[in-house]
Amino acid sequence: MNYRHIYHAGNFADVLKHAVLARLVDYLKQKDKPFRVIDTHAGIGIYDLSSEEAQKTGEWLDGVGRLLEKNIPAKVAPLLASYLQAVTSLNPDGGVQFYPGSPKIARHLLRSQDRLSLMELHPEDYETLHANFDGDFQTRVTHLDGWLAMNAHVPPKEKRGLILVDPPFEKDGEYKRLADYLGKAWRKFPGGVYCLWYPLKKGAPIPEFHAALHALEIPKTLAVELTVRSERDTTGLTGTGLIIVNPPFTLKGELDILLPFLKERLGQDRSASARAIWIRGEG
Ligand code: SAM
Repeated sequence: MNYRHIYHAGNFADVLKHAVLARLVDYLKQKDKPFRVIDTHAGIGIYDLSSEEAQKTGEWLDGVGRLLEKNIPAKVAPLLASYLQAVTSLNPDGGVQFYPGSPKIARHLLRSQDRLSLMELHPEDYETLHANFDGDFQTRVTHLDGWLAMNAHVPPKEKRGLILVDPPFEKDGEYKRLADYLGKAWRKFPGGVYCLWYPLKKGAPIPEFHAALHALEIPKTLAVELTVRSERDTTGLTGTGLIIVNPPFTLKGELDILLPFLKERLGQDRSASARAIWIRGEG
């Protein structure tokens, strides 16, 4: 396990993922009934962007750094409000030295009746995550394989929930694994909201991945993709994707407003593009 999210925290992929995560949690809060957020690959929860690791790549400068460098247009601001509140809550004096990972964003938005389950397999990152939630009785932090948890922890006892699956994509075959594990989890918990992250880069098997998701026959599956630069000169990340199962019915319309803004603000060259398309469902 070589991946450490501190090198990437707050980058353009985090911005899209965390903005959508916050909207999904906001939506679950429209009903009083409690729900659970299950974050299978949680990371450490809080990232110090002034640390040597984050400064080394400077990825956040082209992510949350750019997002906050100018005013956000009035029609977009409400769609980013909950996400940005979570960022501000860690930086009460302004700026963005501390960046919240998915666990802290979800936790910031929970009500007293809601719960959070976090899994992290890296031993040191697990310890840091655990310390970051010390004494929080609404959150359970487990040193466990997130793939196992994705299956074993659904359905949650609340019978309402959001499952975030954000693996590091260090190994071959992760796209297939993501689709396979989604199929298994969804059969156990078809009413859950699922949010799965995947990378866009040169050679990524995106058409095959979308076809595998389509073959699962899950009625409402949305793909959200933001490309920020051309694949021509890099083997690194050129874009970011999310699969959302059972999205709130308002989400597609919101993305049609949010994505063009993110493309403009975070795009790095003329290849920048964004789309939200139904793999199966309302399209
Ligand atoms: N979800 C986090 C966020 O948005 O703030 C970032 C997570 S990062 C992309 C992926 C994390 O998964 C890393 O912290 C890594 O140590 C952890 N990880 C890798 N393999 C895992 C596994 N099999 N089960 C649980 N965690 C794993």
